[in-house]
Amino acid sequence: MFLEPHFKGQRSGWIEVICGSMFSGKTEELIRRLKRAKIANQKVEIFKPKVDTRYDDAKVVSHDANSILSVPIEHSSKLLELTDGINVIGIDEAQFFDGELPEVCQQLALRGNRVIIAGLDMDYKGKPFGPMPNLLAVAEYITKVHAICQHCGNLATHSYRISNEGETVVLGEKDRYEARCRTCYHMGNILNLKVAEEKKEEKITNQQTLL
Ligand SMILES: [Zn+2]
Repeated sequence: MFLEPHFKGQRSGWIEVICGSMFSGKTEELIRRLKRAKIANQKVEIFKPKVDTRYDDAKVVSHDANSILSVPIEHSSKLLELTDGINVIGIDEAQFFDGELPEVCQQLALRGNRVIIAGLDMDYKGKPFGPMPNLLAVAEYITKVHAICQHCGNLATHSYRISNEGETVVLGEKDRYEARCRTCYHMGNILNLKVAEEKKEEKITNQQTLL
């Protein structure tokens, strides 16, 4: 588990990145860190790109008394305007932000902010996603979290798209993506066909048992 660095008398900020595939618990880890800071009376807020329409605008991302406001913004430069008086800045779904985000985060860290970024490190094609590789390069602390492969139970690092859309950004959850390990990811649709075949066989066996 990530433990916050302990600085005595040091005022400068820093950048933390939490990355991984879909269903790996990135946002949960982001919220865990922010909640602890909030309990310590630090001012915290989460920002997310406006493209992420899966959740309501300005939705509160957790449900208890320590809820944290999540503010949708169009461009990373807005972060510099909207974070006056905030100590810890959370950024969720960072892969959807523009290419200026790494530079903006560095400015925020220099201003003394603790910046915690959560995002997908790879897109569904297995390629580095948006500004994430550059954020990983400039961060002081990196945590890679893993999902569990839905086919073999190993640690999953890849987001496999089970729907047919060709664009890089297709919003969705379990209806469109599966968390997979490297091997199962590269087996592609063969695995899905196998699963369908097994289900069909199972059905036939069940029917035979009934007869
Ligand atoms: Zn697997």
